[in-house]
Amino acid sequence: MSNDTPLHGVRGGAPNPPVERVTTRLMARAEDLYRAEGSATYGRHGHAVHDELRAAFTALEGGADTRLTPSGLSAVTLAVMTACKAGDHILVTDSIYGPSRRLLFKTMQRFGVEAEAYDPRIGADIATLFRDNTTAVFLESPGSLTLEVQDVPAIVAAAQSRGVATLFDNTWSGGVVFKPLSHGVDYAVHAATKYPSGGSDVFMGAVVARTPEQAEMLAAATRELGFATSPDDAYLVLRGMRTLNVRMRAHDASARTLAHWLAQRPEVARLIHPAFASHPDHALWLRDFLDLDGGPPAAGETPGAGGLFSVVLRPTSQERVYAFLNALSVFGLGFSYGGFESLAIPCDAQLTRVATPEPLEGPLVRFAVGLEPVEALIADLEQALAHLAD
Ligand SMILES: *Cc1c(COP(=O)(O)O)cnc(C)c1O
Repeated sequence: MSNDTPLHGVRGGAPNPPVERVTTRLMARAEDLYRAEGSATYGRHGHAVHDELRAAFTALEGGADTRLTPSGLSAVTLAVMTACKAGDHILVTDSIYGPSRRLLFKTMQRFGVEAEAYDPRIGADIATLFRDNTTAVFLESPGSLTLEVQDVPAIVAAAQSRGVATLFDNTWSGGVVFKPLSHGVDYAVHAATKYPSGGSDVFMGAVVARTPEQAEMLAAATRELGFATSPDDAYLVLRGMRTLNVRMRAHDASARTLAHWLAQRPEVARLIHPAFASHPDHALWLRDFLDLDGGPPAAGETPGAGGLFSVVLRPTSQERVYAFLNALSVFGLGFSYGGFESLAIPCDAQLTRVATPEPLEGPLVRFAVGLEPVEALIADLEQALAHLAD
């Protein structure tokens, strides 16, 4: 009798890789020191647990290879440093995550890269912004806070026809319900800190390259910049990724229930959730997003989403918005998402627009829906909303 599952006989039957704490790799002979490659020579290049986590991201995104970084923001850094050099012009969606905006418009500018913001809803008209020295377009869809869905196929087609690289921050979808590389995007970026980890206890980033040539450029940039991640952290994220799909299912279901409930409330001027017909880009979401198994939705089914959405409140004072948020007790007040715990933040302080001054009719609040019972979340919102009343 034999059990021929792929894991049987590997690592003594252990389903998970060992966590090795290794910097130095001792060699038996001096001749070997310069012969071996990568992880065989020095711990910075990673161990079995890093290799397995990289493989998990490569499979999730359907790419050629993945490199890990110590945070999501450093994954953005790595992708940009891989694709851009001094003298280049990079187009950046105006809906980008705030810290990524600072990287692109401040630090990269010091290195001679000129960033220009574009309207996230620009679509094929991105072509009108290309210059002779445009080498990359940075996308993030849905956008941070305001959740615009970008016309990825149109933007990628325009970029490819000019030999311009495309970089995509895919954190919102967890890599499950949207697959940028399948649309021809060159580099998918993840804040693995969020859904892949799921535990609100570890920072990690990943960049997945579409082709072997890009993977080689990505590997060289990783090596030269010196990004290394702890084996314990890599282990935690790999552990999280085993349950990514079931968690996304739960986040999505609860978020839709809450979004539907909030949309009916008199305190709410507008719901911003791409899975609802009221979202201006709902048709793009229906066209391009996938189900919660990462496949095309079955006939009559709609795509999956995640746990993150926003609402615009009816105009009210800052004090009342704070009173509402401070009255929440199941929702925590804090940045980030993708963990087990629900979070809420007021967004107005970090809304920065250059290309598209977004006229919001009231205060913007973002919710990250966790894994608590949805009834408890609704009850929490209901009692807290009373603090918005005049
Ligand atoms: C959180 C986040 C990041 C940065 O991830 P960190 O791990 O916090 O550095 C990047 N992009 C998006 C869209 C994010 O939400």
